[in-house]
Amino acid sequence: MSCTEMHRHSIFCILSPNILHNVAIKGSTKQRKWALQTLESDHGMRLMRATYQLMETGAHKAMLTASPPLKQRTIYDATTGEALPGKAVRIEGGAASADVAVNEAYDGLGATFDFYQQAYARNSIDDEGLHLDASVHYKVRYDNAFWNGQQMVFGDGDGELFNRFTIAVDVIGHELTHGVTGDEVNLVYLGQSGALNESISDVFGSLVKQFQAKQTADQADWLIGAGLLAPGVKGVALRSMKTPGTAFDDPVLGKDDQPAHMRDYVQTSADSGGVHTNSGIPNKAFHLAATTIGGFAWEKTGRIWYETVRDKQLKKTADFQHFAQRTVINAAHLFSAVEKAAVLDAWSQVGVNAGS
Ligand SMILES: [Zn+2]
Repeated sequence: MSCTEMHRHSIFCILSPNILHNVAIKGSTKQRKWALQTLESDHGMRLMRATYQLMETGAHKAMLTASPPLKQRTIYDATTGEALPGKAVRIEGGAASADVAVNEAYDGLGATFDFYQQAYARNSIDDEGLHLDASVHYKVRYDNAFWNGQQMVFGDGDGELFNRFTIAVDVIGHELTHGVTGDEVNLVYLGQSGALNESISDVFGSLVKQFQAKQTADQADWLIGAGLLAPGVKGVALRSMKTPGTAFDDPVLGKDDQPAHMRDYVQTSADSGGVHTNSGIPNKAFHLAATTIGGFAWEKTGRIWYETVRDKQLKKTADFQHFAQRTVINAAHLFSAVEKAAVLDAWSQVGVNAGS
């Protein structure tokens, strides 16, 4: 069972398996080994999942609280092992660590919590004050970060292709947003509904970063995972919402394969039907709507997308068109004909007819 096959068990990884497959074919002997270790069968993950299933029925319930929104973070050190969560090394309000990964994880969880609370009055991932836990230094040179339905887990990266996975706050926002989506609509992680699940995580991951930097839609870089690629890798990030398909083009990682328009939609059985690939299309629609509407993207466009994720009419098997139609309806409910027209036009520009 690999990271890429874990989605039915609520394990969401930031990296497309396509990238790791490329490394496993094109990389140096060492790089291939690291990529295969990340992709390979993983007894530890299965054990961990069994542990969390037990926690869901017992101890975990006690971690939930209906009290006022308060951050409750705990960062654990897995000390390059597979056992989770590991040793607690920083708790809420505790002093900064000498370990940069610990502090980045702590700050990234905090930035995501603050974003959801201040922008949308959401009380943590489940809107019920879920405590936020993360483990750093998972395994040796592990090239991924994931949300397993209960906590975040970060690898250190191999150092040649990928830096430590705590380095990018939007990656943390992306992963925790899988928790939000799972709590609200649980979009099926396959094909178009899966690509929407991925895109929603990119949208709010980027908005966490924009909110923290107080950037308008025009000022934002719209990159996902800037800083994550090691020096020497030909690329700037994992994905670009502004220009999907341009984030990297490297002899080892391969080329960013995201389309920006329905005419280039990738039909594939890999990666749960291209969920990390075709997410480029709704990503671009969000970027277009946000830059047309202008200002801080979380205030209007983000709000429209957030209310669509919460929309009881949204089906968990939504395709792009159904999701797009709900965003147009919500734009009209929340704002005015101007925002509605901007959202409709943004979808039209990526080849999705969102008219009802
Ligand atoms: Zn994801």
